[in-house]
Amino acid sequence: MKIFKFGGASVKDSLSIKNVGRILKKYEKEQVLIVVSAMGKTTNLIEVIIRDFFQNKLFNTDAFTTLKKNHECIIHNLNLQLDVSPILNQLKNTLELNTETSYSYLYDQIIGYGELLSSSILHAYLNQTLGDSAYLDVRTLIKTDSNYQNANVCWESTTQNIQQLKFSQSRYITQGFIASDENNTPTTLGREGSDFTAAIFASVLNVESLTIWKDVDGFFNADPRLFNDAVKYKQISFREAIELAYYGASVVHPKTIQPLKRKGIKLYVRSFIDLDKPGTLISENQEIIPEAPSIIVKKNLFLLTVSTKQLSFIVEKELETLFGLCHTERVRMILMQNSATSCSLVLQNDPIKIPILLEKIKSLFQVRFNENVELFTIRHYNSNIINQIYSKGRFILEERNNKTIQILIQP
Ligand code: ASP
Ligand code: MG
Repeated sequence: MKIFKFGGASVKDSLSIKNVGRILKKYEKEQVLIVVSAMGKTTNLIEVIIRDFFQNKLFNTDAFTTLKKNHECIIHNLNLQLDVSPILNQLKNTLELNTETSYSYLYDQIIGYGELLSSSILHAYLNQTLGDSAYLDVRTLIKTDSNYQNANVCWESTTQNIQQLKFSQSRYITQGFIASDENNTPTTLGREGSDFTAAIFASVLNVESLTIWKDVDGFFNADPRLFNDAVKYKQISFREAIELAYYGASVVHPKTIQPLKRKGIKLYVRSFIDLDKPGTLISENQEIIPEAPSIIVKKNLFLLTVSTKQLSFIVEKELETLFGLCHTERVRMILMQNSATSCSLVLQNDPIKIPILLEKIKSLFQVRFNENVELFTIRHYNSNIINQIYSKGRFILEERNNKTIQILIQP
């Protein structure tokens, strides 16, 4: 069996879905399990609906209508006999009936409707064009704890659930990103988590390879839109890929590599547009081809500079408080640097969580902040590249070791 993951860009409209059909036609003779994300920017759109409801108790009719129209238009263009209104109504009802006050909980009850819509549409399309395909509700298979928005997989029950399936059909379609906890309450694996879903299936089923189909030709050493001399890796090691994903390389979700590495399952990152291009192979092989420094950019970060109210030293106790608050408010810390009396925290920006965290920190410390700072991480750096980065804005801080340098810039 092969595992294929199709992300949002690969199913963004009816032509894209037809293209997925074209790819699967090429693999008709093989058994394939397909993990699909929500279509195009659907997840962002559903986030707007959730946020409006959570903050203002308002049901955002405009966003909901756009969601409905986008999917119905694709169904119409593909000539499918499929009615997705029950899925959409369920989304609306779940939201309006919610009585829980936790944002993360509410988020996970609603956000997965994007994947439920896309997988239903892809399933109907493949049934119509390539013949019978089996549909799996991934929430009955992948089990997690109840750490909403970033749930941790319970490998034992997940393995049992997946291995119980007979897999007698040639094609299976399921959703990425979503799962459920022991009470069958929906959970999610974190934004962009569909890659990880595909890796979970690959690992449990011990397949030979996983292919992530993308709108780029493979894994590049830098974003070709930002660096015009970017090169594509033909091959990199699991270890290097883990490092790059950790620092924010958007090609694969950071949690994807570990389960593949454990079982020695090859990962291909390939273009869904140009099927003749070989893409990038990520495997046990330690060699990086070609050898090129990699540059990862994280934009729109939030820099918080904290000092004590009495300008005393910042030591373990203060750091414990700061780390604790970031942990309880579920704000991700990307980088930290401290001096005698101040501590700089570079945080993932989040319009809901950051203001809450900021309030709490302000009650204990003196605080300054900068929004929209950019972090450049360079692996295997050289002075030429470092100078290029320095020219991109006002220098704020940097951290380096022998392999990696991180430079924070205000653009
Ligand atoms: N649809 C989800 C997201 O946009 C999961 C994924 O695409 O991997 O984050
Ligand atoms: Mg993705």
